[in-house]
Amino acid sequence: MMTKAETKTAMSADLFELMQEHEQVVFCNDPETGLRAIIAIHNTTLGPAIGGTRMRNYETTEEALEDVLKLSKGMTYKCAAADVDFGGGKGVIIGDPSKDKTPELFRAYGQFVESLNGRFYTGTDMGTVLEDFVHSHKETNCIAGLPEEYGGGGETSIPTALGVLYGIKAVSKTLYGTENLLEKTFSIQGLGKVGFKVAEHLLKEGANLYVTDINPDMINALVQKGELMGRSVIPVQGDDIYSVPADIFVPCAIGGIINEQTTEQLKVKAITGAANNQLLHESLAVTLKEKGILYAPDYIVNSGGIIQVTDELYTPNKERVLKKTKAIYHSLLEIFAQADERNITTIEAANTMCEQRMATRRRRNSFFSPRKCAKWDVRH
Ligand code: NAD
Repeated sequence: MMTKAETKTAMSADLFELMQEHEQVVFCNDPETGLRAIIAIHNTTLGPAIGGTRMRNYETTEEALEDVLKLSKGMTYKCAAADVDFGGGKGVIIGDPSKDKTPELFRAYGQFVESLNGRFYTGTDMGTVLEDFVHSHKETNCIAGLPEEYGGGGETSIPTALGVLYGIKAVSKTLYGTENLLEKTFSIQGLGKVGFKVAEHLLKEGANLYVTDINPDMINALVQKGELMGRSVIPVQGDDIYSVPADIFVPCAIGGIINEQTTEQLKVKAITGAANNQLLHESLAVTLKEKGILYAPDYIVNSGGIIQVTDELYTPNKERVLKKTKAIYHSLLEIFAQADERNITTIEAANTMCEQRMATRRRRNSFFSPRKCAKWDVRH
């Protein structure tokens, strides 16, 4: 049996092993408000870390830590791909979002964010809403994605949906040599904030749609739109969406939907959608490649939201956000060309592009003087 001191050493060694790819992990404990949170800063090579804060009833601290480490790393790649001057970070608050939220808890969280001195910017994620961060904002300026009345850029699903459309156009150009989507057929899973807007864009382009959502109201609303525009919108039941004969599958609901079973069913030529973490695991990119299905990496396609949130920190400007979002088209063309040339998956090509961007910047950076964003400079 280990002595107390040995246990302590073993635990800290494990923690450092777990966070070996990360710069900093902060455990935030405030017994007065009940706040227990973890902030992970993965990489600030490109600028201060940014990433939402998730609130979830994690069963164990290890589970929360695992989540925050994985999500913060994903943010590093997302920021690098979007070519915004931010690095990757993420926060998790351990607690039940339906029971444990108080204004004081979010103010305490804001104080911990502030203590990082501009190294970490955050906002909403699963389990948190903008109103929570209005409390945190009283303690720190390092809050992003605020509503327009608080000086923010507003609804992120607008640039996210536009980015998906540009992603689809890049895929169409690669597959068919044209961005014209007239009479092309798309299967869309999820008609929420992003999916519905993507569907509207596609209908305007003259496309036909198969659609599914667990909420029939969203389907009915889109079918009516399709009728008004003289386009075909065919509702599909649940998992049948994977086997419809469409050109491009557009996942805009949940993650992990590309797995061993669904890859067998797919009849599409490409996958291009907003949902985060579409592949259950990265090796499925190889399966898709072998099946001749072009996969547009999700974190590139859905980066319109992070483009807006980071842009907001430099005085919001919708035109600039839309311009930057259109660059998703060129990023994807470059990734597809690299993947083709080197005979690698599109995910490998995307990751390599992001790592190269970081390597280039690293040569000019000093680790302990990360660039502060404009909002920090103006208001501190
Ligand atoms: P949302 O909650 O508004 O919409 C999700 C929709 O999917 C809902 O209409 C829901 O009923 C439907 N849905 C859920 N499970 C389903 C299932 N099994 N089958 C079919 N439909 C299902 O969310 P959103 O903001 O539109 O985001 C959609 C996806 O895009 C998410 O994965 C999100 O993480 C990702 N994303 C969103 C943004 C953004 O700016 N909102 C940015 C980047 C990535």
